[in-house]
Amino acid sequence: MEFETKCLHAGYTPGNGEPRVLPITQSTTYTYDSTEEIGKLFDLKESGYFYTRLANPTTGAVEEKLAALENGVGALCTASGQAATFYAILNILEAGDHFISSSYIYGGTYNLFAHTLRKMGIEVTFVDQNASLEELKQAAKSNTKAVFAETIANPALCVLDIEKFAQLAQALDVPFLIDNTFATPYYCRPIEFGADIVIHSTTKYLDGHAVQTGGVIIDGGKFNWNNGKFPQLSEPDDTYHGIVYTETFGAAAYITKARVQLMRDLGATPSPQNSFLLNLGIETLAVRMERHYQNAMAVAEFLTKQPAVKKIKYPGLKQDENYDLAQKYVPNGLCGVISFEIGAGKEEAAKWLDALQLVSLEVHVADIRTCALHPATSTHRQLTDEELTQAGISPGLVRLSCGIENVSDILADLQQAFEQLEG
Ligand SMILES: *Cc1c(COP(=O)(O)O)cnc(C)c1O
Repeated sequence: MEFETKCLHAGYTPGNGEPRVLPITQSTTYTYDSTEEIGKLFDLKESGYFYTRLANPTTGAVEEKLAALENGVGALCTASGQAATFYAILNILEAGDHFISSSYIYGGTYNLFAHTLRKMGIEVTFVDQNASLEELKQAAKSNTKAVFAETIANPALCVLDIEKFAQLAQALDVPFLIDNTFATPYYCRPIEFGADIVIHSTTKYLDGHAVQTGGVIIDGGKFNWNNGKFPQLSEPDDTYHGIVYTETFGAAAYITKARVQLMRDLGATPSPQNSFLLNLGIETLAVRMERHYQNAMAVAEFLTKQPAVKKIKYPGLKQDENYDLAQKYVPNGLCGVISFEIGAGKEEAAKWLDALQLVSLEVHVADIRTCALHPATSTHRQLTDEELTQAGISPGLVRLSCGIENVSDILADLQQAFEQLEG
């Protein structure tokens, strides 16, 4: 099946007389005829549903679809993107381990890595993703167990040299985990470029309608966990009568362990209702992304002509510093998010945002409705102008997430807001 077809048909094939649309199995539990059958499920000797924290038919169908879209061997959906990133790391690292992460990452991921994981004894080193492979290797330690980055960074909108990071991970004999939220599997499938594990906040484009929070971990199934660095996967798990994940589950060892151990113990499971809503969103991913991209390109070009706009970050623009990387890794299109600076600073930017009528102010991106955010007066409002600059956020910075409206209506709204600045 081609990508667009998988968006509609992967993961759920109804039989004769069954519902055409993926049904919502809103049940925590499943009944069996014998204790023996239930025992086999608990011993992982047979696969089947027994409790929705671990697996559910609605969520399972979406997981199969997402694995198909990213060309992985399996997937695990979580209640949020944050939970997905946390589990993806915790599945293979423990106290005393270390990993390398790009510094251009989502703020929530930064807090998780720099503070919460550190408190648990897992150390991170942040690196400049534009450094050379040789420089990046210098961040490695004897206890380094993973490499992490984002395909298109939120909010920096930098495009990652995915193959360079894959080479770094290969040289260290550790897996490369990548957050592919902003590119979506429609525009980039990082496993094809050497990534091992793909993570998404499904809250963003995969849903697209801003109706559920969710996350997913997708296992590429290619990493060799039997290299002595990952005893959690290659040595017996006493909580399952000494099962060895790599022996019993082969290519799907990583994702099976994430489900049967981490989801069992930590429980950030999505509700079946939310999985149903996520599935509806994914069905139209391909057509939505094309419109997000077309609109964002038109808006980015429009912004380049505005005297009030100082700097624009959108890797689809020829003058963008990441244009070449975008041509290589996301050649067919990009996300709808653009960041730019309104030259005269914080008050001026706030005035422009307050003048918007169609475009709404929201703490969200990737919505089908165009929305905007001013970090200096919202997410980062406690910082002084000086501190903002140190954090790489200029006082006039605006993050604009282009939706799928008719672009002339978006442009007209931006235009009238610029006119009010002049007046
Ligand atoms: C939003 C986001 C997350 C966190 O996802 P939630 O669903 O909000 O928990 C992680 N990574 C990126 C790139 C994001 O944009």
